[in-house]
Parts: sequence; structure tokens; C-alpha cells
Amino acid sequence: MLKDQEAACHIYGPVPSRRLGFSLGVDILPYKTCSFDCVYCQLGRTGRKSGRRGRYFSSRDILRQIKGAIDKNPRINHITFSGSGEPTLHTEIGSLIRKIKKMTDIPVVVLTNSSLLTRPPVRRALMAADIVVPSLDAATAASFRRVNRPLPSVRVEDVISALSVFRREFKGRIWLEVMLVKGLNDSPADIKALKKAVARIRPDKVQLNTVVRPPAEKWAQPLSRGALNTIKKELGGRTEVVVDFRRRPGSPASPDIRKAILAMAERRPVTLEDIISSLGKKEMEVRPHLETLLRWQRISAQQHGGTIYYTPPQPSPEKRKSPGQEAGRAGKNP
Ligand code: SF4
Repeated sequence: MLKDQEAACHIYGPVPSRRLGFSLGVDILPYKTCSFDCVYCQLGRTGRKSGRRGRYFSSRDILRQIKGAIDKNPRINHITFSGSGEPTLHTEIGSLIRKIKKMTDIPVVVLTNSSLLTRPPVRRALMAADIVVPSLDAATAASFRRVNRPLPSVRVEDVISALSVFRREFKGRIWLEVMLVKGLNDSPADIKALKKAVARIRPDKVQLNTVVRPPAEKWAQPLSRGALNTIKKELGGRTEVVVDFRRRPGSPASPDIRKAILAMAERRPVTLEDIISSLGKKEMEVRPHLETLLRWQRISAQQHGGTIYYTPPQPSPEKRKSPGQEAGRAGKNP
């Protein structure tokens, strides 16, 4: 365990999520620990590329923080393992899920890049989850390497086999997420291979996503909605394009708006609308605090795809200390 990070904050949100309503994020890894280095990752480039599992943080601390958040927030739709990297790298993820299930009826979701599902103990660890959202961005070796830049030992054929085994073993729902990056994994050959893989894996849903938040590599470009819809049709009935979250009324409030904004932006690039939705505040209440944070240089504004995102001032990934964000697939939001 990383003792110097013992006091780390492991939860964030609830944040508004396109797929999961108000999602309480659970972050159980040091920033940014992952077996991939996806070109679209909203956490930036991977500083700590690893496939080694460990007890990175104390389960007791993580559970205590989750309990505190549940007690404070009456409206949490899902508890989602995601954050600063690949959550299955934590050796205690299975017992954490089981203990959360004893604590609350709120469904537990795990976002994973799928790379560790080739290992039976990792598949067993996820059995108690309600929903697993594994990634499969490409089904050919070349595109997989181009988009995900995995550890050399991770082979896409093994990942696809592991996902189909997991489908047979897991009783909950599987939403397979495919993040498409223009020119990298969206060719007709890519989609044909993907379709074949989906037929083997038989997920409950396939969710198409694209680069909507500032990516690790500035050149990573999104697909248009039209292109996504064409691919959706090619992949067939269980496929959907993940749409933007719309504001829901009655969201949890925070007593300290600036602190809450900073905590959100630490986790992932957020828009004004994200902040408003998450805090359940009006724009006129949020905007002055955002402007103050910009003036104090505690936050920066970046434009991506015509939308402004607020992030912490950009240090190099190695320098960033605090864990987390809902990335997970960080290009990939819950
Ligand atoms: S998007 Fe997810 S899987 Fe890819 S590098 Fe970022 S944290 Fe890792």
C-alpha cells in the first residue's frame, strides 16, 4: 500500500453521468495507474503503466468514505469504480464490491479497460457487481495498439476471449463500451472486426462513445454524430450512441461551491453544465465562483470541440498528485 497516500480522497461526486444518472465515483488507485495509455484519455498520458495488481490503498478508508457519502447524499443512482486508472489493478476490488453490497442497495458499477479480465481472479472479483462496463475499442491488433497503447503483454485476441468467458460467468449486466477515434479505429475493417467480437461477447448493450472531452493527445479527434449513427446501424440492435446527460432536478447540493468545483475538475474536465447539474445550483450561483477560481489560477479553461472544459492548471502527469477522475476510462465517463 502507498502509505504516503493513505489520506487520499477516494470518492467524488455524485457527478452527473450520461449513462448512470448521479454516480458516486470511487477511485482506488494512485493517479494515473493503468495498463493502457489511450490516446483519448482525459487524465492525460499514463505516468504509471502497469499490469501489476496491488493493495494500493486501504479498503477500510475507502469504505469509510463511501459510507459517509451515502449518508450525506440522499440521491445517488450508482456507485461507480472508475477514477485514476484501471480499477481492477487493486487486489481488493472484489471484497470492496461485496462490502458495499452489504452496506446499501445502490447498484455497483465497474468501468474497466478489460485487460485484466484474462485473469480468473479478476473475473471472480467482479462477480458481485451489478453492471460491468468493459472497454473494447478495437478488435484488430493494429488498431488496438494505436488507440489504447497497452502494455506489450496485452493482446486483443486474449481480451476478446476473456470477455466472452466473463459473459458466461457473470450474472449482471455488461455494457460494452467502444470509444471511437477518427481515423484510428473507425475504418470499415475495424467495424467488421468489432461486429464479430461483439457477436462472441454477447453484451447486454454496446455503447458507442467518442472523444468529447480534452484527450491525452490533442490530435485525437471525435467522430461526427452521423458517423456514429452509421456505425451503430452496422453493429446492430443492441448498440446505442451514448448521449449527453441532461440536467435532472433535485441534485445533491454542496455547502462549499468552490471546493466542490475544484474537486470535480480534479477528477475530469467539466463543463459549466456538468457543474450546474452536479451541484443542483443555478448558473448565476456557479458562474461567479468559476470566475474567481479562474482569476486565482486554481482552474483553467480549455476549449475542445466547441465546448469549454474546466480543468486544474495543467501540470505534467508525473507531477499530479491527487488520484482520480471518473475517467476510467476517462475518455469514458460513467
Ligand atoms: S482511458 Fe482509461 S484505460 Fe485508457 S489510459 Fe485512461 S484510464 Fe487507462
